[in-house]
This record gives sequence, structure tokens and C-alpha cells, in this order.
Amino acid sequence: MDCEERYRRLFADAPIGIFQATPDGRLLTVNAAHARIFGYASPEEEIASVGHVGEEHWADPEKFRQTIEAVLAKGHVAAVETNFVRKDGSFLVGNLHLQALRHSDGSVACLAGFVEDVTERKRAEQEQEKLRDRLIHARKMQAVGTLAGGIAHDFNNMLTVILGYTELLMESTREGTPEYADLQKILETARNGADLVKSLLAFSRQDDSRPQKVNLNRRIEQVRKLVSKSLPKMISIDLDLAENLAPIHADPGQIDQLLVNLSENASEAMPEGGKLIIQTRNVPHAEQLCRNHPGVEPGDYVLIRMSDTGSGMDEHIAERIFDPFFTSKARDSRKGTGLGLAIVQGVVQQHCGCIECHSEAGKGTTFSIYLPAMKRPERTAAPKRPDAQARPTRTILLVDDEEYVRDLAKRALLAAGYTVLEAANGIQAVHVYRKKQESIALVILDLIMPEMGGKRCLEELVKINPDVKVLVMTGFAADQVDDELKRTVKGFLTKPLEMRRLVEEVDNTVGCGNRGPQAGWSDRSRLTGS
Ligand code: ADP
Ligand code: MG
Repeated sequence: MDCEERYRRLFADAPIGIFQATPDGRLLTVNAAHARIFGYASPEEEIASVGHVGEEHWADPEKFRQTIEAVLAKGHVAAVETNFVRKDGSFLVGNLHLQALRHSDGSVACLAGFVEDVTERKRAEQEQEKLRDRLIHARKMQAVGTLAGGIAHDFNNMLTVILGYTELLMESTREGTPEYADLQKILETARNGADLVKSLLAFSRQDDSRPQKVNLNRRIEQVRKLVSKSLPKMISIDLDLAENLAPIHADPGQIDQLLVNLSENASEAMPEGGKLIIQTRNVPHAEQLCRNHPGVEPGDYVLIRMSDTGSGMDEHIAERIFDPFFTSKARDSRKGTGLGLAIVQGVVQQHCGCIECHSEAGKGTTFSIYLPAMKRPERTAAPKRPDAQARPTRTILLVDDEEYVRDLAKRALLAAGYTVLEAANGIQAVHVYRKKQESIALVILDLIMPEMGGKRCLEELVKINPDVKVLVMTGFAADQVDDELKRTVKGFLTKPLEMRRLVEEVDNTVGCGNRGPQAGWSDRSRLTGS
């Protein structure tokens, strides 16, 4: 084998594409790998079929022109990542090295180049990048969740106190007076605060979620009523609700929150007025959905679609809308917290659903939310409560280190006819219980207290009386509490504590349920949580 033959083999058998071409884009020679990369059966076929490399091989002929210019000026270009087109029209990403071969007088003889097909590698890299982004996103969510959980405990205690005392004051103030109106404002603001904590927790998934059978159409009708009141006249909300819509298993408060957040965004995107259409549909066997959203289980779904005729958004904004604290609105306005859609996404994920957004700047936005339809029929006939007339005459031991919270709960329980013993920490509680266990019907126990916390206190109480009845008060959701605790206690009260719920829960646990609302702790339906 002579020298020239060896070089020819090197060229012909090289695993990367090698070619020679004229500066005006005509192929002179290509090797087998080059033909293969571009989808031709042989080098001969490729050379015969390609008239102009720039127009037929390059996805962007302008880039071809610039590259040739650069090669002629500098002598070579190295590692240019370029989108090429195969014979069948499909795209590939090539890594290109190109140099000008010159005659001894300096004139260009031809261009010689190497092309490596890096399509697969690029795809893998992009996949990796996406995964990394998802991981970073998940970590960020976790951090915000931890933060939210951390504040919730203290914040909920404060809100319990503010809400409770305001309610107390309102009872001794005549309706219609300016003082009453002022108190009402405090109450409203504190409730907004409670809603904000609730939102943060919903988003961080530490919320006290109470899933039940939910009729979406009904929730939508209610939320429309509520939202309509605060909407400018030029905005209308039209409903297009499916008959026989399957129920879902969901937390009604969280679903309301989702609907409100999306409606608010829509209305804020239509400052000049417009229309919001809310649709519902049954989506049986959502196979396509599972293909588009890995992780979504196959099955029957219910679709909520909210379309507005508002400003829409461009790609840059659309990419980030679900990020917590991302907002395109003025930060100082009350609108732009950037939590709205993060919460919506949190709620959707918590309900094992998925969300899609289609939007075009100037043309409006559509959010589609898919939630799993409920499978099993609900059990009917709630268990009967004990005798409606029974009056509780028993004693409650109330354990909480927060004096104001304790004071409030005590007043509510006294008003409901209970006798109340108090303890400010676990040690006191154990002491009182040891002395008076005969008369104590129920212990209400805060979890986080200095000296002896709720959990240790509970262990001590169980030692004294294995059948001790305990309700635990906590700023966290019941599913955040460990299993051992759950087995021992009769129930959980989550903060901020609504006094009416406290009394109800105590009634049920002590066995004096269904006494109707207590005078003084009047019923009120709230947007969230009711
Ligand atoms: P915020 O409303 O506090 O800005 P959100 O999380 O609710 O936070 O929304 C994030 C961003 O998504 C908004 O600032 C806005 O840019 C965009 N967005 C959400 N919904 C719509 C909509 N219906 N039309 C146009 N843009 C929207
Ligand atoms: Mg919003």
C-alpha cells in the first residue's frame, strides 16, 4: 500500500464527515461518513444531488455566507456549531471545522472541512439542563416552603389573638357605630393576613388540606359571585359549565383560591375591559394529557379552562409565571406579589393534576387545568352525633404557652359551658393532670412550647392515663405530625384558631356535639377554609 493509498483510506474510512468544496458552495469530494451524516446512500449520490451547500445543507444560508467570509479572511474557523439539513429535510446539529487551502500564490484552491454529528449529544445536554433546572426549581420551592412553615407558627398565633380579641370587642360594640366599623376593618385585615399565611402554606404544601367531594361548577358559580363584586363594570365573566360534570376529590378552600387567583390575573390583564370565560368539561381517558405531562396518571379528568381577552404575555414572561415571587406588575402595588400562580401550581400539584398556559402578547391568555375526576362514590349517612340536648359540664385542661391564645380559647370554652383549667407549659400540665385527672374530660395541647414541649407532655399524660383524651393545637398540617402522635390524639386544631371551630371540635371529642352555633361565636362563611 503506497502513501497516497494510505491517505485515501484515512479519508474514506474516517468516522467523522470530511469534505472539500469551492468557496461558492459546490461540493468537490465527501467521504462516506459525510454522506451518511447528511442522509445520502453514497458520496457519489451526495455530490450529484447537492447543487449549493449553503442552500441545501445549511438551515441558515446567511450563516453559511458569514462563515465562508470568516474562513477566507482568517484562514480557518473551528468548532462552529451549526444547524444542518439532511436529505429528507430533518435537522441535525453539526460541529464544523473549516479551513481554506491555498495555492502557493495565495489564491484559494478549495475549502476543506470536518463535520461531526453532535445532535444526540446536544439533545442529551439539553435534557440534562432541563433536569438541572427542575432540580434547582424544586430546591427553591423547598426553601420557600421551609421559610413559610417557619413563620406560620408564630404568625398564626398572632393572628389568632388579633382575630379573637377583635371578635370579642365587636360583640360588646353596637353595630353601626364608627367603632364597630373600625373593628370590622381590623378583622378583615387580620383575615387577609390569615389568608396570606394559608396561601403560603398551600403553596409550600404544609397547609391543612381537607379534601372532600367537590362540585367544581358550584365552586365556580360562587367564586364568580364573589369576584364579580370587585370587578370593574367593563369586565364580564361568562360561564360555560358542563352538565354532569364529574365531582373531584379536593380541598374546596384551595380550589376557590385557585379560581380567585386566576380570575384576578385575568382581570388585571384587562384594564380596558374584556371578557373572562370559564369553562368546565369532562375529559374521560386523558391519554394525550399523560403523554404531554409525564407523571400524570392515566384516568378520567375534569378540565377547567379560563380564557381572557387581556394583554396576553410574551415568551419571556410566560416562561417564568409559575415561579414564586415572579411578577411583571409594579412591586409597590398591592397586586404584584408574584405568588398567585405559584399557589395555583401548588394546588394543582397537590391534587395530582396539571396546568397548561397558552398566551400571546396582545391576544389574551388561556389557562387549562386538569384535575382527576373522583372515582369512588362517597359513603353516605354521616355517623350520628350524640344527644343534641346534652349540655357539657366537663372540665377541659388548656395547655398553651401563649397567654393571649390561652385566654381567648378559655373565654370561648367558658361561653360554651365548659370549666377550664390552664397550664402554661408541659410541666404544669402534667402536674395539674396528675392532681385532677378524674374531672378532666379533655386536654387541649399546644405542640411547640418551651421547657416541656407538647410531645413529651403527651407521653407523660399517657403514662398517667393511657386513655387520656387529647386535642393537639398546631400551626402545621396534621400530616406534618408524626404517626405516633396521630395514634394517641383525638384530633388536631390548626392555627390560626377559629374559636367556633375550637368549640365544635371540643364538643365532638367530649361527646356533646351538635349543639348548634354558640351565641357569641357566630357563623361566618369565609372564602378560604369554610
Ligand atoms: P402577580 O399577579 O402578583 O404578578 P402571579 O403569580 O399571579 O403574580 O402572576 C405572575 C405573572 O404572570 C403576572 O405578573 C403576569 O405577568 C403574568 N400573568 C398571569 N396571568 C396572566 C393573564 N391572565 N394575562 C396576562 N398575564 C398574566
Ligand atoms: Mg396574581
